Amino acid sequence: MSEERKRALQGIAAEALGHLAWLQDAGVREIPAPVARPGAAPRTASPQGAQAMRATSTPTPTSTSTSTSTGRPAAVSRPSGLNDKGCGSPPLLAIRQELGECTRCKLSGGRTTLVFGVGNPQAELMFVGEGPGADEDVQGEPFVGKAGQLLTRMIEAMGYRREQVYIANVVKCRPPGNRNPEPDEIEACEPFLRRQIEAVGPKVIVALGKFAAHTLLRTAIPITKLRGTWSTYAGVKLMPTFHPAYLLRSPDEKAKAWADLQLVMVELGKRPAR
Ligand code: SF4
Repeated sequence: MSEERKRALQGIAAEALGHLAWLQDAGVREIPAPVARPGAAPRTASPQGAQAMRATSTPTPTSTSTSTSTGRPAAVSRPSGLNDKGCGSPPLLAIRQELGECTRCKLSGGRTTLVFGVGNPQAELMFVGEGPGADEDVQGEPFVGKAGQLLTRMIEAMGYRREQVYIANVVKCRPPGNRNPEPDEIEACEPFLRRQIEAVGPKVIVALGKFAAHTLLRTAIPITKLRGTWSTYAGVKLMPTFHPAYLLRSPDEKAKAWADLQLVMVELGKRPAR
């Protein structure tokens, strides 16, 4: 077996173990067997396929093609000098270019990188968090620290790859000391999130944590009461649930978060594990 194939298989095994660990923590005891679609070819995991699944967009000052959920390539001309993660379609790129090196609010003064988003530009499922933390500020991608790794396991447990969903935050620059974004900062940044949602066109948004849910739903109802109940944001069905960082601190709450995600899976026509 080639080293490349061995590494690809090790990566798949590590991801599968992470997926199972999340399900076990969430109290799942049974995973339904996949239902074969009539006429569907058997699935194989080639090293190239695994690599492609893991690929994320990287800033390059060239034109490129981004695969969409429909399989249609969307030609996107990369802006030079800007972090263009999450700009995999012309409408998303236009929003990113309009943001530019944004100074519309005071968070611009402390950021390393403007964190626009990441993922499939035509995803049916979108996750929205509060704002970038230290890791995200450096890497220019939402949810890449420990909480991000847990989010990735949650996404995979739902039957998606991280690359198949879209992830963004209410504000795109890191608040100093990881404080909550302030009203003027939200007011300046949220219109761009709203336009991102319109550009992606998800069927469902999952709001991650108290702050994202409160901001998007304009409410102060505790997340413990909001979670597990459908709401609407910008005309899209929205499910609030706990933030992965909170789940890292409170692992006993994972079962509740999994129950919320199962509601999302049913809404999107997927079979939840039990
Ligand atoms: Fe601009 Fe949003 Fe960053 Fe404020 S948080 S500087 S509005 S991109």
